[in-house]
Amino acid sequence: MNEPKYISVAIDGPAGAGKSTIAKRVAKDLGYLYVDTGAIYRTVGYHMSLMGIGPKDKDGIERCIDDVNIAIEYRDDGLQHMILNGQDVTDLIRSPEMSMMASGVSAQPCVRAYLLDMQRELARTHNVVMDGRDIGTVVLPDAQVKVYLTASAEVRADRRWRELTAKGELVRYEDVYTDVVKRDEQDMNRAIAPLKCADDAEVLDCSYLSIEQVVAEMKAIIRKKAGV
Ligand code: C5P
Repeated sequence: MNEPKYISVAIDGPAGAGKSTIAKRVAKDLGYLYVDTGAIYRTVGYHMSLMGIGPKDKDGIERCIDDVNIAIEYRDDGLQHMILNGQDVTDLIRSPEMSMMASGVSAQPCVRAYLLDMQRELARTHNVVMDGRDIGTVVLPDAQVKVYLTASAEVRADRRWRELTAKGELVRYEDVYTDVVKRDEQDMNRAIAPLKCADDAEVLDCSYLSIEQVVAEMKAIIRKKAGV
């Protein structure tokens, strides 16, 4: 069997565990491509909401999925820009409404199938740090490194609330907490590619760790598993 040419670091975990913050930092330090797969689901959700299609409207989503043309652009600002049918939607997909929309559409099999190749192709052609819900279990089951990053629901809601508030959004902590718990519930209990810890993943609970500590732990795991 051929040795894979590139290294894949798969990071999964519930909403608000800090996956993107940590993955972005680790990818930058290693010189790997950071792939935020949640942003891709958010972009699909955004398209469906533009079309007036609800997250549970299976027929509507199936009808429209082929019109979703997504490009990912990596710019100097370090952000993964999401381009939907030619429009940069990077900021537009970050609202609490789009979090719930993404969680809804991501339970539809046609959406997951549509995005699978895009994600695998990135890993086939780059060293990647890819974060999401099903990266270690479904998208990249052969990833050399798998980490399940988690934290208590209270800590995760608090982080999300601070993030949104810092951006000037007026949201109540209680509402953010309810959304986080509801999203976990939906993501863990859907029929297809549910969020779960891969058997061969290292579990990293970051409830009481600083960003620096989690980055260091993550790099130690990568060194141990992939020798880099
Ligand atoms: O990670 P983020 O919070 O941006 O993801 C938004 C939603 O997209 C998640 O709640 C989840 O339902 C969905 N998602 C997924 N599989 C992934 C990444 C995200 O189902 N690999």
